[in-house]
Amino acid sequence: MERIFLKKDLGKNLEEYDFLGLKNALKMQPQQVINKIKESGLRGRGGAGFPTGIKWETVFSIENDTKFIICNADEGEPGTFKDRFLMENLPFKVLEGIIISGYATGSKYGYIYIRGEYVEAIKIVKKAIEKLYEKNILGENILNSDFLFDLKLVRGAGAYVCGDETSLINSIEGDRGKSRIKPPLPVFEGLYGKPTVVNNVETLAAAAEIMSYDNNPYSQMGTEKSRGTKLVSISGDVNKPGVYEVEFGKLTVKDIVQEVAGGVKGEKIGFVIPGGISTEALTEDELNVPYTYENLQKMGSNIGSGGMIVVSSQRNHLEIVKNVSDFFRDETCGTCFPCREGNKNINKIVSDIYKRGYPTSHEIEIISDIQYAVSSAARCGFGESSLNLILSIFEKFYTKKVEV
Ligand code: NAD
Repeated sequence: MERIFLKKDLGKNLEEYDFLGLKNALKMQPQQVINKIKESGLRGRGGAGFPTGIKWETVFSIENDTKFIICNADEGEPGTFKDRFLMENLPFKVLEGIIISGYATGSKYGYIYIRGEYVEAIKIVKKAIEKLYEKNILGENILNSDFLFDLKLVRGAGAYVCGDETSLINSIEGDRGKSRIKPPLPVFEGLYGKPTVVNNVETLAAAAEIMSYDNNPYSQMGTEKSRGTKLVSISGDVNKPGVYEVEFGKLTVKDIVQEVAGGVKGEKIGFVIPGGISTEALTEDELNVPYTYENLQKMGSNIGSGGMIVVSSQRNHLEIVKNVSDFFRDETCGTCFPCREGNKNINKIVSDIYKRGYPTSHEIEIISDIQYAVSSAARCGFGESSLNLILSIFEKFYTKKVEV
């Protein structure tokens, strides 16, 4: 299996980094770059999996003197640390991806919004941006072309909700980090009301990698709906936690836990959270699912951010549920009522369940009703997904055991 990112150790040293992806892109017309990204099948790696080429094409096709690229590096999903890995180890590849997306979409301005807690990544990326300005890879006449692109680093202030693209945009504008109603989508009205691409760090690094090949190996890897490779950050009860690159469709979730991450630490697997705490848990019996967008969706879960958390059977599941609920209660931006009140009320019920040691069927029913209301009525991804994991644990582990 060919590894796309992790085979190279060329990240920190500018002298060794070839910028082949950017050089190739600058020899092409923007539409040709977009076509190549579309052909690759690259989907957004932040969690939602929206086709990157279509997002770029939408912004490219809008006539406007001012357009923006934002690299979303506000990686806040618990269990997810692959973007930090990329920024700390391959900063030039991430920046190259941002510049390429600027060229492809006709944007002259970019932002990289990095999670405030990522102190080391901020230091490294800041230095990398300075070096690119010195070497004429940012600013005017990039690599002696007539392309101009400016890039600014913005440090987040620790709010999980700023990983939501509309909250992030508000935060860059100097407003409080709270979500906006979509539509309009940022591609039409984003930063300062202008057409804006918001892409995740891994998406942009993958785009740079794709552009560095004359052919398009990405399009031949994975499955029809899940092309290429994915960085998975694995943590929790495993022997070898870390960031690993896996080709879509080649391994099951179980293979990733057992073979890639060295197996469970503890008696046996209790459950696996496949893509951060916004995704539904998979029980041990469900782990033979091939690691692709479509197969995980069939199982009622998601690839999400690729933040895989392994939980051994010896853990107290209710303690995890309580922890997750505390997190969402604290992190909701509070702007929209269903998300704010829903997560607060669920937290009260979950706290009672945790103290008692088991849920009643009535409580699970109420949680399910509130989950339905929050996920249907909340205005951003936070509310849509905040109760996925909690409800899945109750449904999969507690519905048959409780009193009626
Ligand atoms: P979404 O489905 O609303 O949108 C995905 C992206 O596609 C957005 O950028 C959106 O603007 C764009 N888009 C949607 N329709 C489009 C269209 N027709 N044309 C052009 N662009 C279009 O999802 P979201 O709310 O942005 O993200 C939710 C995901 O975030 C969840 O799946 C979750 O797993 C993930 N998540 C990630 C982290 C992290 O740290 N990486 C944290 C929390 C949640």
